[in-house]
This record gives sequence, structure tokens and C-alpha cells, in this order.
Amino acid sequence: MNEHWPANHPPETPSLEGRRKLWREKYAQKDAEAGIEVDDDFEPFSQINDMFTRAFWDDTIRSKKTDAFFNGHRVAANPRKAEGFRQRDLALRNAAWAVSNVISSRGMSEGKREGFQAPIEEGGPVAPEKIEIDDLDRHTGEIKRIAKLFGADLVGVTDYDERWHYSKRVDTRDFSEVDSELPEGLSSVIVMGHAMDHDLVATYPSALAGAATGMEYSHEVAIVVQLVTYIRNLGYNAVGSMNDTALVIPYAVKAGLGEYGRNQMVITPEFGPRVRFSKIFTDMPIAHDRPQPKGARAFCDICTKCADACPPKALPFGPPESGGENQSTIRGVKKWSANCEKCFGYWAAMGTDCAICMRVCPFNRPYDGWKDQLFLKLAYSRFRKLALWWDNKSSRAERVKPKVWWGNFK
Ligand code: SF4
Ligand code: SF4
Repeated sequence: MNEHWPANHPPETPSLEGRRKLWREKYAQKDAEAGIEVDDDFEPFSQINDMFTRAFWDDTIRSKKTDAFFNGHRVAANPRKAEGFRQRDLALRNAAWAVSNVISSRGMSEGKREGFQAPIEEGGPVAPEKIEIDDLDRHTGEIKRIAKLFGADLVGVTDYDERWHYSKRVDTRDFSEVDSELPEGLSSVIVMGHAMDHDLVATYPSALAGAATGMEYSHEVAIVVQLVTYIRNLGYNAVGSMNDTALVIPYAVKAGLGEYGRNQMVITPEFGPRVRFSKIFTDMPIAHDRPQPKGARAFCDICTKCADACPPKALPFGPPESGGENQSTIRGVKKWSANCEKCFGYWAAMGTDCAICMRVCPFNRPYDGWKDQLFLKLAYSRFRKLALWWDNKSSRAERVKPKVWWGNFK
């Protein structure tokens, strides 16, 4: 992998070894708080190696099925007789994605797939006058309230951390690597969580369930653009981002929104893993949150429900390991890592996304009654084995048939 200095770098670029040393000194304490373990051979990830990007240029990944997977979401849905993959299932999934698709396709002539392979270019000019911020905590509370007013379910703030930024983004015209261009001076990241619909997630695997994913991308793009516009009107710079530009998971963990789980997702106390994340990079003064580990990671140590349920066996059963052997795994971070080739191969074979590992996770609950709250209390305590036993006894993780979901409209 090429050695690239991520966006926002100072002009005098030290070597990768020099940067690793700087990062160790700068982040050791914060990483320890967040439960992030970075090794000496850490390297920022280049987006060219992301599985969804490899599906376009890497002949070991690209196939008729992977092309049909992407086309099926936008160009030619391919209904089947199987329940959950019929025309109305695909119609709902593709409709759920529609707003996100409008934004992500408008910059294609410039090679920018906004929200996925380039930041979102929206928000208008930065107002020439900055508002005065006398009380940082009050101002931070106000920004979080406004994020929720626009529709965010969770909001946290952390510092700009160049390690998690893609060393290069890709130009989607020819899948070449190009610089990630962010303005100088961005110092904070506002991370927003967007809860996915519980009842749709219960129908994974199905194309119908993919509507839960598409809906949140369409929601989050609107929320990101609205909050970016608000901040820019206050006189500060802000850049909106979904899956592009930087890895959101370490940012969400650092911003105190949840813990990293065996299923590769952030497990939140409010929605478990049933949540997507977006982010906004800004130079606006704003107070930072701290990581808040509650015990989900310890629960994952005694649980393998996601790995057991994964059809292609793409998730690990053992303890976290330092990644980097797999091209699509960031090098030098000790964590649970999926075999992305197996995972995406299953998606392509189905023609739609999978999140069985989200559905079966004991933390995936509606949290609308005392039983779910009691589960959470036990799961976060030394009685976690009891919580797991209780979950195993229940029917919570069972798949809901798509026809049952549609039947709810009768
Ligand atoms: S998304 Fe599906 S295939 Fe991928 S790791 Fe989860 S269960 Fe396995
Ligand atoms: S299913 Fe179990 S092991 Fe997997 S993420 Fe959820 S709690 Fe962790």
C-alpha cells in the first residue's frame, strides 16, 4: 500500500514511522479510554481497498453478480419468486434509497460519488461573520439539539483524528486514487447515529429488509446537509460525510456513542447495533465527548451469536486480532475483523445487503419495555451470562417472514 499523508496535514510531512510516533504520543490515553488498540505497524486505510470499491476494479471480486447487485439497486431491479425478493420488496428497497441516490449520483461526471467515495458538497457559503460562542457547553448542547431536531437519533462529538481518514479517495470514473481534499483547520467531528427500523431489520435476509438500510442513508444525507448548512451560516466551516473520507466506527466510539462488537458494528445502549452513522468535520468550537464503555465488549467475549448465524462464516469466533492480512482490513488495529470477501460474496449472491449479524445480536431490541431494559442492565453487568442465557431462550432473534411484515398493513 502506498504511503500517503491524510487530508488536513501540515506542509512538512514526516515519514510514516514519524507519524506513528506522533500518533502514539498524541492518542495513547484517548485510545485506552475508547478501548482502541493500535499496533506499531498501523497504516491509514486507502479507500481503493474497501470492498465496495474493489467490486469495481478488482477482478478477483468483480463478477456478473456484483454488477447485478449494484444495478439492481438503481437501474434494473431483478425480482424473483422468493418471498422478500418480489417486485414490491425491491420497489420498497429502491424507493428507500432514492434520496441518497440523488446526492450520490450528481457528481459522477467528476468522479465523485458523494456520501460514499467523496464528501457531500453542500451547505452554501460560510457566513463572513462568526457567531460569538461565550459558553461552550451551552453552544454544544444547542448543536446537539438542532441535530436531533433535524432527525438524528444520537449525537456525539470528538476530535479530528487523521488516523481514521482514508489516505486516498477514489475517482469513480476510472477508480484511480486521488487526494482526499478537505479544508485546512478542521478540528472536531460531530458524529450522528441514525436508528434503523426494527421491524424491517427483523426480516433480514431479504430485499425488503434492505429498505431499512436505504431509508437511513436517505434520512442521514438530509440531516447532514441541514446541519452543515446551519453551521456554515453561523460562520464556521463544515463538511458533511457518510461512508466517505474517513472510517466512522472509531469516530463513533471516541464520541461516546457505543462500543465496537464482534459483528463489526457499534453497539449502542439505545438501539444496540441497529444504527448507522454519519459525520460532520468542522472548525467550529465545540465540546468533545468521551468514550463510554458500558460492557458490550465484555458481552461479545462470551457471545458468538453473530458469527454462528453468518451464512458464509465471515465473522471471527476468537478474540480480537491485529488486522492487515486481508486487503480490505485496516492494518495495525487489534479488533474483530470480518472476511469481507466472504461477506460481500453472500450479498452479491442474494442481490441485496445482509445484516443477519445485526438482527440476531442480543442488543438488537426495540427497548420499549422493562424486559429490554432489564436485559441491558444484566448484559452490562457481571450477570452477562444470565442475560445471554435469557436471550437464547427467547424468540427475539427469529426472522420475521416478509409476508408477515406486509401483512401488518392489512
Ligand atoms: S452481513 Fe451477513 S454475510 Fe456479512 S458478516 Fe453479517 S451475517 Fe455475515
Ligand atoms: S451477537 Fe453477540 S458477539 Fe455478536 S456483536 Fe452481538 S453481542 Fe457481540
